[in-house]
Amino acid sequence: MNRAEARTEQRVVHAVCSHDCPDSCGVLVTVETATGADGGKNERAVKIAGDPAHPITQGFLCGKVAKYLDRVYSPDRLLYPMRRKNGTAKGTARGADGFERISWDEALDEIAERLKTIATQWGPESILPYSYAGTIGKLGFGSMDRRFFHRLGASQLARTICSEAGGVALKSVYGAKLGTAPEDFAHAGLVIAWGANIHGNNIHLWPFIEDARRMGARLVVIDPYRTRTAAVADEHLAIRPGTDGMLALAMMHVILAENLEDREYMSACTAGGEELRTHALQAEHAPERAAEITGIDAETIRRLAREYAQAGRDGSRPAAIRLNYGTQRSENGGTAVRAVCMLPLITGAWKYVGGGLQLSTSGAFPWNSDALEMPDLMKASPLKRHARVVNMSRLGHALTELGDDPNDGPTVKALFVYNSNPAAVAPNQNAVLRGMAREDLFTVVHEQFFTDTAEYADIVLPSTTFLETKDVQGAYGHFYVQMSNQAIAPLGEARNNTWVFRELAKRMGFTEACFADTDDQMIDQALGGTSNTGGHAWFAGITRQRLEREGHVAMALPRDARGQMLPFSDASWFGTASGRGELTPVPVFVPPVESRGGAAAVDGRFPLEFLPRKADNYMNSTFANLPGHQKMEVAKAGMLEMHPADAAARQIANGDAVEIFNARGAVRMEALVDGAVPQGVVAARLGWNRLGGVEASSNVANGAARNVNALTSERVTDMGGGATFYSVLVEVRRAGVVA
Ligand code: SF4
Repeated sequence: MNRAEARTEQRVVHAVCSHDCPDSCGVLVTVETATGADGGKNERAVKIAGDPAHPITQGFLCGKVAKYLDRVYSPDRLLYPMRRKNGTAKGTARGADGFERISWDEALDEIAERLKTIATQWGPESILPYSYAGTIGKLGFGSMDRRFFHRLGASQLARTICSEAGGVALKSVYGAKLGTAPEDFAHAGLVIAWGANIHGNNIHLWPFIEDARRMGARLVVIDPYRTRTAAVADEHLAIRPGTDGMLALAMMHVILAENLEDREYMSACTAGGEELRTHALQAEHAPERAAEITGIDAETIRRLAREYAQAGRDGSRPAAIRLNYGTQRSENGGTAVRAVCMLPLITGAWKYVGGGLQLSTSGAFPWNSDALEMPDLMKASPLKRHARVVNMSRLGHALTELGDDPNDGPTVKALFVYNSNPAAVAPNQNAVLRGMAREDLFTVVHEQFFTDTAEYADIVLPSTTFLETKDVQGAYGHFYVQMSNQAIAPLGEARNNTWVFRELAKRMGFTEACFADTDDQMIDQALGGTSNTGGHAWFAGITRQRLEREGHVAMALPRDARGQMLPFSDASWFGTASGRGELTPVPVFVPPVESRGGAAAVDGRFPLEFLPRKADNYMNSTFANLPGHQKMEVAKAGMLEMHPADAAARQIANGDAVEIFNARGAVRMEALVDGAVPQGVVAARLGWNRLGGVEASSNVANGAARNVNALTSERVTDMGGGATFYSVLVEVRRAGVVA
């Protein structure tokens, strides 16, 4: 090569972090293109940084994604389609050990043929797509894939696993998934982080909270676990799991008994206030009674309720609640979220800049999802009707029992997994793995890595990262819509979701014009139409071309005469049937069956409440396979955190190998006797099932690896059919000790 003629150029591309996180960061990717003397080009992303122009990202990324190039260029990336070799049992091998490379044509032809055969023999509903928020880009999350499965007549998937209970609950009270803008938290005088580990998974809210604290605000964390956020708060209230609804009711009890409510606001903006008053003032919601249930003493509840209600009055700074989804991953999580969400309706905190509540802001992005997903295509399927719905939170049941009852419809015979790793993240793991191991189940997995789920695949397809594809994205923690431009070419033969389903549609013989739509056309459709005339008013003036130019644009949400955007500050914001904040039906606290106050605790076999937590440095199971991320997590990976009294009662010392078990399964870990959990609660972190090195939680039995989800249940939440990861009873013993 003539070195004098070789040259290197850099360009910066605006992208968006597509991982399942409220922050939806604006990302700047520096791409270096080296051109050789022969004209050949070599392109590589060399730097990733937070966009300094993005009002929430403010130029920094979390520790997980700051190392993102390790993920993109990992030597473990899946780069080619692969087929499971004859003789490789499902769930026993990954990569070249059990799979052989094939071409995309072979892979797609085989998938199409198998799906056609299965649909003909068993009916199209015997095919189950399984996806979630591995990417939250609008196209990657749900677009051509939905069209494909709708046209096929495949079972519909109820995507409930993470946030459905909370979302349904929030909408039942407000009629909209909106909340306090993150920037406005800087004006709060009291911030309550309720089940919200802001440091762990909402880090871009933190600077605004720090601003508020510099002005004298107090930060109170309500969480059973001493998170990184709790450790730096002014006050940490270690509530017992599943009792948040009772705490909220006790706060209402104090506020209403002491006439601290905002009657003017309640009368203008709420419905059902008198019914709620009567309910909350019952003796069972008095702080003394709540203290017995929540583990938080009565005086603390009184003090918090008064401080909460008085914030914002007489010119003081208001109270803002950052409620997060951990609260709703409990059997009665929907009711708990409803109760917490009613607090600012009683105090009128929504009226003030810096007051209110944020659970999700996703309702600020009124995408044209029907245009994107085309549910009416189901009527063009062989079914000629909408297909049955299968709840993803009960995947174990779906793969092992669905179809046993003739009313169920067919047994699941094909599983198509993308944007998810259910072998690691779905509850009741032993049932899930038993189902996935079925030799009569045809499984396709579209992935970036050889995950736990890919081990069970018949065909594995390589997927792009967000640097390698284009997408449009909203957020559930702020109000900016963004364009994620493609920064680099796909690595190896990786392909994005839309390409895969477009190609499969051709092979299935689907002739509808929508299967030829390009990604840009679908972005236009999501925004409401190419001319934007058919779009929602909040997308006014926001076009693909503008987003390509500007990177991010603020949604055109209503503002008051002062120019303030204050959700629920007046009645015009509510999307409920009454046009008011709904305080009925009143929230009734019921202890989870699997909790110390529930029916499953009565026989005493499993007396400890188990929190299978998300790791601080992973995103569910994403990142758990990367050495750099594992190093950040090393102090807690594979550890069972215990209260000293619970450990002593079982003759367990720090560092002992322990077995955690219940009727559903067992895993082994190392005891970490620390102050992170209250008595009666144990906690461990989610990771991949089969990892070596630092991930001591690897648990292999009969060839199949397991993690904390071997213990979790398929019981679903009271609202929305969500997963109940935080309603789990277990017992713990030193490993090797016979019960
Ligand atoms: S995971 Fe969240 S905080 Fe981290 S870069 Fe992505 S959006 Fe930002």
